[in-house]
Amino acid sequence: MAETESCDVIVIGAGLSGLRAAQLLARRHDVIVLEARDRVGGRALAHTFANGDSVDIGGQWVGPGQDRLYALIETMGMQTYPLWDHGDRLVHSRGRLGRYRGTIPKLAPHVLLNVHWMMTRFDAMAAQIDTLRPWDHPRAALWDSMTVAEWMRRHAVSRRACAVFAAGIGAVFAAEPHDVSLLHALFYARAGTSLDNLVSTTGGAQQDRVHGNMAGLADRVAQTLGPRVRLGEAARTIDWSGGVSVETGKRRYAARRAILAVPPSQAFRMRFTPDLPAGRAGLWMRMAPGACIKCVAQYETPFWRDRGLAGQAVAPELTVRVTFDNTEQGKTAGQLLGFIEGDEARRWSGRDPAERRAAVLDAFAACFGEQARHPVDYVDRDWTAEPFSRGCYAALMGPGVWTAYGRHLREPLGPVHIAGTEAATRYFGYFDGALEAAERAVAEVEAALEAS
Ligand SMILES: Cc1cc2nc3c(=O)[nH]c(=O)nc-3n(C[C@H](O)[C@H](O)[C@H](O)COP(=O)(O)OP(=O)(O)OC[C@H]3O[C@@H](n4cnc5c(N)ncnc54)[C@H](O)[C@@H]3O)c2cc1C
Repeated sequence: MAETESCDVIVIGAGLSGLRAAQLLARRHDVIVLEARDRVGGRALAHTFANGDSVDIGGQWVGPGQDRLYALIETMGMQTYPLWDHGDRLVHSRGRLGRYRGTIPKLAPHVLLNVHWMMTRFDAMAAQIDTLRPWDHPRAALWDSMTVAEWMRRHAVSRRACAVFAAGIGAVFAAEPHDVSLLHALFYARAGTSLDNLVSTTGGAQQDRVHGNMAGLADRVAQTLGPRVRLGEAARTIDWSGGVSVETGKRRYAARRAILAVPPSQAFRMRFTPDLPAGRAGLWMRMAPGACIKCVAQYETPFWRDRGLAGQAVAPELTVRVTFDNTEQGKTAGQLLGFIEGDEARRWSGRDPAERRAAVLDAFAACFGEQARHPVDYVDRDWTAEPFSRGCYAALMGPGVWTAYGRHLREPLGPVHIAGTEAATRYFGYFDGALEAAERAVAEVEAALEAS
């Protein structure tokens, strides 16, 4: 192996969190970023269609309250534009299609009232959570002993109310209600302001897109770092016994401090010397991500708009449970975006791509008519199959994890500081959270370097 390369700080992971941490550190310190993939961006990734239009096939939205992300977009010379949010939305249930306006689909009045009440009650509970220390809430043990599914069973008056609430949970977590601890769901909603905010388009987390894509934002941040970013270098072992030494299979790197900006499931794959303390290992091995296949069909035009439709559908029983009009502002070609989430994503992962595409287009056709079955181009991405992500949108916590292990989430591991969206207290799971965690980890590193 080539000789050891030394610097002040090693950043592991060139997603938005690691890149931003390195950008901040590079003002005063010698920094190297190690990235396992042959590209930067992590869960931000763009796809270019045959006609040259492009789309984020990873994360894409930014909304009010995500101030760090808006600021970075502006600093990097990029601009946002609003998601197309005009016209009626659709609900597809029991083979029937209904039109509605607002966030909650048009349902029988008692179901509608119940879903609305569940959302209100859920958000009132979430508002009580301290996102720095969710385990300190007086009811933390109770809320962490049950899943969201159990809470729904107690509060939903009908199977339809359950299905609609579950569609919202699926859209936010890329998981089933039985996958997620109630305490984690409440923490997540609080970190993202409220569940209502997280499921909303205009005025909420799905409000804006970026011209040039979120992946383009990661590229621009990486450009400011130049050769400090080393691609195709997966950290395999981290020696944190005195300073930090990282081995990638190609090279060995040494530094006074390191920032780990990878998803917890990926951190757990690395070998640590000395071995990980039990609490940290216990946490990371339990923080598995949700499951999602993001699917985008491109059409000559956004034809649904002519019929007064927003391109947004909720379809709890179809392969694709939620859709959006993903047409890029200023482009002629229309794009329909759909997510396969949770159990359905696990079911479709690894299946024949042609079969999967047909199932997705079936769902689009069920909502938007036969024309939707015949796109000019199509792409989907199975994030559970992505080697250095293994799922999305973010890591989840099942019952018991926050209360037993949560205090280890952001604690540095000696000279190794923890970034990544999963270490955020605001917008955990989102790009904005990735930036918050980066800033906090950088502040810790700078304080430590100054003190030594
Ligand atoms: C389909 C999809 C839709 C989403 N939608 C949105 C959205 O609309 N809005 C939003 O805000 N968020 C969204 N998200 C979530 C958002 O993408 C993430 O919160 C964000 O990208 C996390 O950034 P990060 O830097 O913390 O982690 P990542 O982006 O996962 O970056 C971690 C990096 O570490 C690298 N890595 C892993 N292991 C190693 C190793 N051993 N050595 C070196 N490098 C390693 C990875 O390759 C990766 O580049 C979505 C995600 C997906 C996948």
